[in-house]
Amino acid sequence: MSHARESAEDRLIARYFRPLATDPGAFALGDDAAVVTPPAGCDLVLTTDGVIAGVHFFPDDPPERIGRKALRMNLSDLAAKGAKPAGFLLSLALPRGTDGAWIAAFAAGLGEDIAQYGCPLLGGDTDHTPGPVSVSIAAFGTVPRGKMVRRSTAKPGDTVVVTGTVGDAALGVKMREDASLAKRWRLMPAMARHLEERYLLPQPRNALAEAVLHHAAAAIDVSDGLAGDLAKLVEASSVAAEIDVARVPLSDAARAAIGAEPALIESVLTGGDDYEIVMTLPPQKLPALRAAAEAAGVPLTEIGRVQAGQGARFMLDGKALSFARPSYSHF
Ligand code: ADP
Ligand code: MG
Repeated sequence: MSHARESAEDRLIARYFRPLATDPGAFALGDDAAVVTPPAGCDLVLTTDGVIAGVHFFPDDPPERIGRKALRMNLSDLAAKGAKPAGFLLSLALPRGTDGAWIAAFAAGLGEDIAQYGCPLLGGDTDHTPGPVSVSIAAFGTVPRGKMVRRSTAKPGDTVVVTGTVGDAALGVKMREDASLAKRWRLMPAMARHLEERYLLPQPRNALAEAVLHHAAAAIDVSDGLAGDLAKLVEASSVAAEIDVARVPLSDAARAAIGAEPALIESVLTGGDDYEIVMTLPPQKLPALRAAAEAAGVPLTEIGRVQAGQGARFMLDGKALSFARPSYSHF
């Protein structure tokens, strides 16, 4: 019996990615395509996001973190839509000569998150590129039919809440670009590490997805900065929002940095990579959401109100802040 000729690409896929693809629908990466069977009465929720070396991460960032970051960006979109992860596809473009140790570490990191978030690898594509490393992920989740939580359904009178803390990753990137900042911001080493960690490895709020599904009127993943993403939500909903900046949740590290340099509040509110969820809901639903968040171990803070009108206003000391650049944008 003769074996079909195995290319280097086939060997790479078999060695590094087949061990991760244990879901029966992935057919051990042995077919042209995978199969997902959504639970009866469910919609599939689809999203895609990726990272490119030199754009979304530094080429010398630890490879274990790179695949995880790309996957977590997608998981965060699913969480904000109230969806439960169902799987993902991975498209990789690697420069020639990328060493096996890099790919092994990349795959090992991804394997940890596949287990942690219960989001199976179903397939993908692997190519060489004359450019930098590019990791593109398309992820799928499920929600009961018609129930995906939209951006466009906020109502005047809703309260606005956000998970976790805002701005850490944006400060972490600044520190990564200029190591002297930790000193200028008078950060203790543990605080500096916290900001860097938040940039390297997002903590998407999938533990809260079910509560978002049941309680949120509208929601958006905070990935391009709170100000810009909330502006997208209020525009989609044809409403306004007023945010009390003093109530925006900050880590001790971000608070210390702003204490040393007050102008950083703009980076905190407009920088990207938070991977938190901002959502609106009728105030009477807040206690139930709070209880669910507590049970899920996800911090939740009320930061403002939805009103009739348009635009998101960030109020500090009685004045609306104006931002030079309200949102992270590649173009
Ligand atoms: P094709 O020639 O049709 O593009 P491939 O040889 O690229 O097929 O892929 C073979 C199998 O390996 C498919 O099941 C595909 O989903 C899977 N695969 C390829 N690259 C990856 C990857 N980076 N991660 C996971 N699965 C992959
Ligand atoms: Mg292919």
